[in-house]
Amino acid sequence: MSRIAYVNGRYIPHREASVHIDDRGYQFADGVYEVIAIERDRMVDEGLHLKRLERSLGEIGIAAPMPEAALKAVMREVIRRNRVHDGIIYIQMTRGVAPRDHAFPGDAETQVVMTARRAKPANPKTAAEGARVITVPDLRWARCDIKSIALLPNILGKQQAREAGAYEAWQVDRDGNVTEGTSTNAWIVTKAGEVVTRAATNAILNGVTRLGVIRVIERAGFRFVERPFSVGEAKAAREAFLTSTTSYVTPVVRIDDSIVGDGKPGPLAQELGKFYRGYVEAGGQDA
Ligand code: PLP
Repeated sequence: MSRIAYVNGRYIPHREASVHIDDRGYQFADGVYEVIAIERDRMVDEGLHLKRLERSLGEIGIAAPMPEAALKAVMREVIRRNRVHDGIIYIQMTRGVAPRDHAFPGDAETQVVMTARRAKPANPKTAAEGARVITVPDLRWARCDIKSIALLPNILGKQQAREAGAYEAWQVDRDGNVTEGTSTNAWIVTKAGEVVTRAATNAILNGVTRLGVIRVIERAGFRFVERPFSVGEAKAAREAFLTSTTSYVTPVVRIDDSIVGDGKPGPLAQELGKFYRGYVEAGGQDA
């Protein structure tokens, strides 16, 4: 089956889909994006993703390309044409096409690209065995809350992880505290049984999965606090895990050369993973 991409109002065979070389996304990474999981024909927390997309656009002054109802219709059409029942949809919006100049063009027209593909969210092997993470300095800018397509530090970190045989790189700020992974949020469970993740400031992307997991934690009545934690605290923690649209809740069993807990996925992380699956099946935040 050939894949179909949506590019500025047209549905095009994926292999032929392209953007203009003067697209500001291509030239300046002047754009934002979203990745939404699809499970059993339903987008997971579509509402939260669209809200974050609107916020990202607003924060950098890119005009919404169409009303939300039209956007939702295109998203569904992209999913339908690609016959994706379980997988992901990718949505990218850039400021427009214009002769190269750093300042915004006066007549910018937001460019929209969407693709969808089949995928199994959360690699079952990694979920069962637990993931290894390495730590790297956080080299990013001061607005990590914006889901920008400028991902150079993130891809460099992820590549470093791959080369080290790890699943993810946890980025560390100048104070020695973990901000987040390169494409995931970072969590620990302390010896006292408290679930900890960094607060959603400009230092991290407020993950939609993070928000779902917080909801699940509240419902389950676990102790939870949003605060920074250091690499040392993470290594000494009882458990660690990471969350994202494509990883769901994935236990972390090793940080650099330190084994977390007993080196096996922690019970609380596993329970949260199960609860999160239930949350997804029940329709997420929209339920
Ligand atoms: N942090 C970063 C830097 C990310 O890029 C992502 C997702 O791509 C996340 C966290 C997790 O966000 P979400 O749960 O919305 O996928």
